[in-house]
Amino acid sequence: MDFALSDTERAIRDTARDFITREVMPLEQELLRRERAHRPGLEPDELRELQLKARAFGFWGLATPEAYGGMDLPAVTQSLIWTELGRSYVPFRFGGEADNILFRANEEQQREFLIPTIEGERRSCFAITEPGAGSDAANIRFSARRDGDDWVLNGEKTFITGGNEADFAIVIAVTDREKGARNGGATAFLVDRAMGWRSEFIQTMGEGGPAALVFDDVRVPHRNILGEPGQGFALAMEWIGKGRYTIPSHAVGIAERALRMAIDYATTRQTFGRPIGDNQAIQWMIADSETELEAARWLILRAAWTVDQGMDPRHASSMAKLYGAGMVNRVVDRVLQIHGGMGYTRELPVERWYRQVRLYRIFEGTDEMQRLIIARDLLRGYTRLGGHLA
Ligand SMILES: Cc1cc2nc3c(=O)[nH]c(=O)nc-3n(C[C@H](O)[C@H](O)[C@H](O)COP(=O)(O)OP(=O)(O)OC[C@H]3O[C@@H](n4cnc5c(N)ncnc54)[C@H](O)[C@@H]3O)c2cc1C
Repeated sequence: MDFALSDTERAIRDTARDFITREVMPLEQELLRRERAHRPGLEPDELRELQLKARAFGFWGLATPEAYGGMDLPAVTQSLIWTELGRSYVPFRFGGEADNILFRANEEQQREFLIPTIEGERRSCFAITEPGAGSDAANIRFSARRDGDDWVLNGEKTFITGGNEADFAIVIAVTDREKGARNGGATAFLVDRAMGWRSEFIQTMGEGGPAALVFDDVRVPHRNILGEPGQGFALAMEWIGKGRYTIPSHAVGIAERALRMAIDYATTRQTFGRPIGDNQAIQWMIADSETELEAARWLILRAAWTVDQGMDPRHASSMAKLYGAGMVNRVVDRVLQIHGGMGYTRELPVERWYRQVRLYRIFEGTDEMQRLIIARDLLRGYTRLGGHLA
């Protein structure tokens, strides 16, 4: 068994780290200043400029096939890079990406939606959640009714990341209520904002915010169906599946950076005439955090490795998402505690992480949904105890 990174994995990881350290981290203090003034921490044109700089560095389209100008990196390497991205709280991500399911688009749709998204000229959002259907996604009610060569879309989607800024939405709608969403009754549509949907900003405890998307008799041509009619639910699950190892990979980067801050603080902050790190109470918080971080790291890399082996990654990914999301919440909470009152202020990024990572236990499948999947896999015998080593 070899736990080492290959030379290539290490080289790519280190180059990403260099870029983030040199180009992204210097923006951190300004980001906190802007957010304290209730302004966006990073403007879209600043993000774009950074992404183009990274492109010159060779980082463009981590998951995008080479035929589309991307790097087409294995999942393990992508996971390592998402961890590097997590080290900075500037919401930077590499450019040249598109939603994984947009690659299912036909040639005409690729020209209209996929290529401009990869190039950063158009922005997408993905919408399945509704006010009445989140975890229970198969219960969506948002409808699409056929009318000649068009479909007429009605309903509301909620909590849609990027929905305020998107030029078009990938929307999952019910096209056959009899069949039900899970059994071929849902379809994915590519819907330009110009076709008539509107978005409403939703305030959250995090910086920025998702949107509600409102569709009121929005006419969409039949040619805007993504994939096949009836394939919507399967495409949605494919979209969600990707985040199950990238989200916790990001969490590992956050937890590492936060824990580093806590260790530095524990060795310099003095109470009762000695550093707080001399106290067992503080040492245990550091020890528990490091142990959980290490456990999460391997669980996540194993999930990514499973993707690269062409094995079904769902069980491993659910464990990675569940544990990684919980881990980063516990670590950031301890890091805040170690910083005392300073941790609670907006001078430091700790309270920002605290607000940010709470979401990781909710979106793209809550903790409870991950547990449900893991237990169901075992109870129904889809997965053996011991995983691929069994
Ligand atoms: C900031 C943000 C961004 C998001 N981005 C997107 C996006 O881009 N696109 C998109 O489509 N959606 C998005 N979502 C939606 C997100 O995926 C849902 O919020 C999530 O799936 C949970 O659904 P819900 O909020 O309706 O909670 P519910 O499904 O109502 O669940 C409420 C609680 O009950 C628990 N629960 C539900 N059923 C069970 C059960 N059977 N057993 C045990 N516990 C259960 C849940 O785990 C949760 O704790 C986003 C959400 C947020 C907050």
